[in-house]
Amino acid sequence: MGLLEKMFGSYSQGQIKKIMGKVSAVEALADKYKGMSDDDMRRTSDILKARLAEGETLDDILPDAFAAVVEAADRVLGKRPFHVQIIGGVILHQGRIAEMKTGEGKTLVATMPAYLNALTGKGVHVVTVNDYLARRDSEEMGRVYAFLGLTTGLIVKEMSHAERRQNYLCDITYGTNSEFGFDYLRDNIAVHRTQLIQRGHNFAIVDEVDSILIDEARTPLIISGPGKDSSELYLKADALTRTLSKKVIKEINNKEENTGDGEYDYIVDEKANNAVLTPRGIKKVESWFGIENLNDADNARIAHHMNQAIHAYGCKERDVDYVVKDNKVIIVDQFTGRLMPGRQYSNGLHQAIEAKERVSVNKESRVVATITLQNFFRLYSKLSGMTGTALTEEEEFREIYGLDVVEIPTNKPMIRDDTNDRVYLTVEDKYKAIVELVKECNGMGQPVLVGTVSVEKSEILSKMLKKNGIKHNVLNAKHHEREAEIVARAGEEGAVTIATNMAGRGTDIMLGGNPEYLAKCEMRKEGIPEELITECTGTAHTSDAQILEVRQKFSELYAKYKADIAPNAQKVRDLGGLYIIGSERHESRRVDNQLRGRSGRQGDPGRSTFFISLEDDLMRLFGDNRMENVKNMAVRMGAEGDISGNFKVLSNLIENAQKKIESMNFRSRKNVLTYDDVLNEQRKLIYKQRGEVLSDADLSGAIRNMIASSIEDNVALFCQGDPEYWNLSSLREIYRGWLIGDGDLTYSADEQKKLKADDVVEELCGFAADKYDAQKEKIGEELFGDVERNILLHFVDERWLDHIDAMDSLKQSAGLQAYAQRDPVTEYRIVGNEMFNDMLASIKSETAKAVLTVSLKRPEAFERREVGAVREGRAAPSQNAKKPVQAPIRRSAEPGPNEPCPCGSGKKYKKCCALKKGGQS
Ligand code: ADP
Repeated sequence: MGLLEKMFGSYSQGQIKKIMGKVSAVEALADKYKGMSDDDMRRTSDILKARLAEGETLDDILPDAFAAVVEAADRVLGKRPFHVQIIGGVILHQGRIAEMKTGEGKTLVATMPAYLNALTGKGVHVVTVNDYLARRDSEEMGRVYAFLGLTTGLIVKEMSHAERRQNYLCDITYGTNSEFGFDYLRDNIAVHRTQLIQRGHNFAIVDEVDSILIDEARTPLIISGPGKDSSELYLKADALTRTLSKKVIKEINNKEENTGDGEYDYIVDEKANNAVLTPRGIKKVESWFGIENLNDADNARIAHHMNQAIHAYGCKERDVDYVVKDNKVIIVDQFTGRLMPGRQYSNGLHQAIEAKERVSVNKESRVVATITLQNFFRLYSKLSGMTGTALTEEEEFREIYGLDVVEIPTNKPMIRDDTNDRVYLTVEDKYKAIVELVKECNGMGQPVLVGTVSVEKSEILSKMLKKNGIKHNVLNAKHHEREAEIVARAGEEGAVTIATNMAGRGTDIMLGGNPEYLAKCEMRKEGIPEELITECTGTAHTSDAQILEVRQKFSELYAKYKADIAPNAQKVRDLGGLYIIGSERHESRRVDNQLRGRSGRQGDPGRSTFFISLEDDLMRLFGDNRMENVKNMAVRMGAEGDISGNFKVLSNLIENAQKKIESMNFRSRKNVLTYDDVLNEQRKLIYKQRGEVLSDADLSGAIRNMIASSIEDNVALFCQGDPEYWNLSSLREIYRGWLIGDGDLTYSADEQKKLKADDVVEELCGFAADKYDAQKEKIGEELFGDVERNILLHFVDERWLDHIDAMDSLKQSAGLQAYAQRDPVTEYRIVGNEMFNDMLASIKSETAKAVLTVSLKRPEAFERREVGAVREGRAAPSQNAKKPVQAPIRRSAEPGPNEPCPCGSGKKYKKCCALKKGGQS
């Protein structure tokens, strides 16, 4: 703790002091609610809603709402929120981030603010990291809300439109970030209002907020459909790229390495996984394509194709990043080494690689809707989040989301021992030392959790443990449900678990074992249905014989397991609790802390140690010269084993390397966002207009305005300056044949001299008004409204999709501006806004003409078609954005159970590799 903090208290302490009045008010109401019957409790929501209707605010009713939830949770779940949980709840209600350590009960914390805010009737979304947790939490916490008379919804992958809509109508809805985000995008490509499923973005509570808003934030959500064929351009770009010379360097801003650019056509930055044309390369491209300036917005497509081509040659390696099989480019998952047939690199990179490998170039897909998670979550009127680890990223939360982080004290003091890192020269030495430590702990019976940064590394460690005869489980975040069970048992005596960071999220590791979990597993095995199992922990009054029976059963099983576990738990405690071994530092200290946080819950003893080798990626790529010196010296000394004691400076160097990548990742996320911000303003405008078009509103006024405004634009364009020199013939050409006849809009020389632009506008508007009325009469008033709606939607969507494409190309070429000494984002904003205004003008004029000329025989020409076979996915971060280590498609979903297994066995996935994963070794 710093001196200032000691003297004045931390920021969090100050903030908590400020809300203590509210927390005490909640606690003071405990007896009032304890004394209520279940029926009275159920009426609480109506009473509180009535108070809101009479003008009281959410803050006014907070004490009663929270106290009601405290009592309800006690009766229904047998869990009464602790003092610190109430503090956390108030922080969430205030739209802030509550940092609460693992095991402090965040799931329950969320119920208080969720319930309070749901009383407004505007809906509350609780966002979890995976479907399994969304389902589990909605079922369990849903019982608390139901007890108080509110409804709970759940959104998971396989749900239909109708089910989703129904679930969004509930008072509180649980789901994952991607489901909420994709539903928003789907709503904005819907072609009829009956397809709309969400009902606004009122209040969101984001669980594991750091994972969702930070780890997931570099890859935007994308819905794509089939796109245009531009294989020729790929081939042409490829043919040139074959002849270009490249230079591979470690860091693009490194002056020393950057010398001699004149001899190369493009530079590959290995660390940032990025390739950039040099001025010499740009010249070659310009001459090859016969253009004057590659940086010109008109040449954005060529620039985009060239960027992808040099990326394909410079940053993607055959048999490492992808393989070529059956005339197809198939991506290799960097984590697992498995092939991922059917997955594609986005943004045309896949096609560029196809051209490079001389296999047939597939049609590009086209983005039909996209948003970054940052901008999606900013849509909420109020946003809050909870996590065990947010303080290290406090600045980012504040800057990007306007959220502050308040650290909530633990319910019981934390006594985990976080020991110093152990550092080794080689990876091999490191792994050997880890195995030794696991063996040692295992010999005593102390449970161990080994965290790894990738599935591949988990497998290496698993093999080594197997060789040493150590029984263990390997988890890799693929089977959330099964993993939850293994994690629940990871604190048992002698348990050894290897897990990647995301594996078994949201499950508590209790020393000796988790009696509640084990009792429920037993009940599941006996075939007791899930709905009844969720009822078994409650104490609320019921006369339902089945519920009473399962409660009885549960309490017997619970008592049995608790008794079984008790001596075991004490033994594990005496052995020092759960030992966390980090096998490598992660890309951020925050993720290391997540791993540590799995031990030492609710005052338990525990220990954590990180093992590092100077050959780890983080040290290799982000360590500086001093690290190199230490390494050389250690080699010269013939140092063996843990060298951290000999080289005290190492701990600083390691922290520096980690800080370097943290800030690089922050910049990368900010970069994605800075670009998306430009598009975001435009997207909001278009989506708002789309919403109006889809609504019931009468559009005729808006359409008439569009017609008049497009006439004004055209007149302004052709009638500038002295009337004598106006270009009336071109103006006539625009309208001849559909709005005016041959003789219309013609004037004698004298007449023209005296003419005012407004006169011309008036005359054309007169024709348009007559034509509009005639159209309406011909088509019939009622039908005409629908025709107008379809036409407008058609042009809004068509032009908007073209615009997204164009903005994407612009972004690619904007990267080149950095070479031309201009700020790429400013360039992107200026040109992007011009393009947007052009797009609006074009929507206006095309809609105007279509409405005035549509014939009833073919009104369907403007029926908005569905986008076709859409695919939802996460994009690779922009190739221009600095993107260290992480490969684009890593986050891909695994194949469906009935799809062919990617290992090539010819069997269904569920009958092949899916079976082999995650089980006991
Ligand atoms: P976190 O997400 O903070 O790690 P969880 O929400 O998973 O924690 O809760 C951890 C465990 O503590 C769960 O088994 C939960 O049921 C239990 N728990 C939470 N709050 C309470 C409480 N007030 N009383 C008793 N048990 C609680």
